[in-house]
Amino acid sequence: MSQLATEHGAINLGQGFPGFPIDPELSDAVSKAMRDGHNQYAPMPGVLSLRQRLSEKMHTLYGVEWNPQTEITITAGATQALFTAITALIHPGDEVILFAPAYDCYAPAVQLNGGIPVWIELSAPDYHIPWDEVEARITPRTRMILTNSPHNPAATVLNREDLLRLEALTRYTSIIVLSDEVYEHIVFDGARHESVFRYPELAARSLAVFSFGKTFHATGWKMGYIVGPEEYMTEFRKVHQYTVFSCNTPVQVALAEYLQTPSHYTEIHSFYQKKRDLFLSHLAGSRFNWKPASGTYFQLLDYSPISQENDVVLAQEWTLRYGIASIPASVFYPTSRDQHVLRFCFAKEDELLVQAAEILRSI
Ligand code: PMP
Repeated sequence: MSQLATEHGAINLGQGFPGFPIDPELSDAVSKAMRDGHNQYAPMPGVLSLRQRLSEKMHTLYGVEWNPQTEITITAGATQALFTAITALIHPGDEVILFAPAYDCYAPAVQLNGGIPVWIELSAPDYHIPWDEVEARITPRTRMILTNSPHNPAATVLNREDLLRLEALTRYTSIIVLSDEVYEHIVFDGARHESVFRYPELAARSLAVFSFGKTFHATGWKMGYIVGPEEYMTEFRKVHQYTVFSCNTPVQVALAEYLQTPSHYTEIHSFYQKKRDLFLSHLAGSRFNWKPASGTYFQLLDYSPISQENDVVLAQEWTLRYGIASIPASVFYPTSRDQHVLRFCFAKEDELLVQAAEILRSI
């Protein structure tokens, strides 16, 4: 869709990347780290000062104690963290419960490692996890449940009841929870992010992945981290050592310094909430149906009052015809489940969001 948008000069609200610069304080910190000579290999698990800052941050936010030496590893983005975790922990024949729609890298990683994806569908417009179905689909071969909150593409968040149910369902099992929390700081309307780390029994069986790219508008840096109990992290690092070994040193040094100011990440939700509200206020009076995003920087719009066309066809057609690119939500389902929903990324400059909403309102 991004290629199509570029070719046709369309406004690109398709691919999820911020359309504004990073904080100059952060780019200055990277330049300084380079000038100060931090240009050689970092230690395999990451620069220690960064892991220490992350440990402190998680203690403050979620009340959990993670040992920076043994339970936190810096990765080349969340995607690598997810792939490496799945490779380290999934063996041929293991079942992995996945929820559809899902971010696209989960299932291929499971399959490449001989695992069996067990799909559970979340349906528009609420995308709630049907926990009774989860319970029914757990078997002695279930090795992992992969959750994502805030959720891409549904823009929903799991609540306390969801986490308690997950905790209860996995109690007395050997199931590992792999929790994708890359949008942990982008939760709206006063809700708090329900990390698996807030729940001690869940924390003891979970690995959670995070991404600096989402939090600091720097998706192109491909920098993230994974956190969890030492017994899992030891296995994770065995694979990490021979695939990535270690990640970009000056960026890690800069992030360690930048994280010393918590407002750099604790205020990001209001920045994005304003953008969501701006986008939706300019859509008022349009023919779409929607539920305001509860988290992430994506907004789903249901176009069924406008057209009954397939979402993939329609997304392409609107890119050419109206100059606005989006992502059809069906591509996030293993079986292309079209529910007449498109995903729009609102991590863009205000002017562009208003322009995009005006176009959508006229359709
Ligand atoms: N998980 C989700 C839910 C995402 O939306 C993304 C990025 N689009 C990632 C993981 C990957 O993050 P990274 O760019 O740090 O690899």
